[in-house]
Amino acid sequence: MSPEARERRIEATWAGLPVRGVSVAGRETWFHLPTLHLAFDLGRAPTELVSVPNIFLSHAHLDHGAGLAYWCSQRRFLRLAGGVVRTHPAGVPAWMNLLALHEALEAVRYDARVEAMEPGTRVNLRRDLEVEAFEADHRVPALAFVASEIRNRLRPDLAGHPPEDIRDAAARGEAVSGRVAIPLVAYSGDTGAGIFARAPRSFFAAKVLLLECSFVEERDRERSKAWKHLHVDEIAERADLFENEVVVLTHLTQRTSPGDIRKAIARRLPPRLAARTVPFLPE
Ligand SMILES: [Zn+2]
Ligand SMILES: [Zn+2]
Repeated sequence: MSPEARERRIEATWAGLPVRGVSVAGRETWFHLPTLHLAFDLGRAPTELVSVPNIFLSHAHLDHGAGLAYWCSQRRFLRLAGGVVRTHPAGVPAWMNLLALHEALEAVRYDARVEAMEPGTRVNLRRDLEVEAFEADHRVPALAFVASEIRNRLRPDLAGHPPEDIRDAAARGEAVSGRVAIPLVAYSGDTGAGIFARAPRSFFAAKVLLLECSFVEERDRERSKAWKHLHVDEIAERADLFENEVVVLTHLTQRTSPGDIRKAIARRLPPRLAARTVPFLPE
């Protein structure tokens, strides 16, 4: 398969969640979740992402963030107000400098901005949607993210009680419902195996897990360690962690052909995980 074909945009729906994107190791990575109006990473800022108001940028490697200034500039060009890129605090000053340079070069001001997202914090995008960030394990400071749907559920001890009881409890000023987060989609960004000890449970419970897996061949085990990327064997060794309905292996290397990647996944992952795993590759 030609490099151009590997870098073609892929569109799929997993566990009811539409996902579009490009993800090739070292070349470009972005994922658009159109129903959630957000994207993880922005690659070279394709047109599709310009109107997406919330970008969660995992780290500063240019295969994930090259398009940041262009995205800000294009939003201005199309008169789109606001727009936020949230990323690791360590990278924010440099990104702000970079944006200031582009603003000076273009003699304009961008309305879109870059904001620090501390690992371990969450942001509410809508009443029913939040995104949490945690520290990944990469060669530069990097975040991983989990997007969850927020629902209000009846307090467990009130379940099964007649409606009058619940009305009375509410009338007494008691909270009759609690907030429940249902993890929809998790994104690892680029990471080594250190992520598995740091990830919250929601990462492994999300319906769809977009999981970096740059390498699948035996000869690449050392390379994956040195460059802080995941190898399929490191995922196989932890197969029991993944409760996700679908595990999508992303950021796959161009050094291995799609056919060999599919074969390696089938061979190296235990069947119960392999059955729920799909490589993010063109057909
Ligand atoms: Zn990368
Ligand atoms: Zn990277």
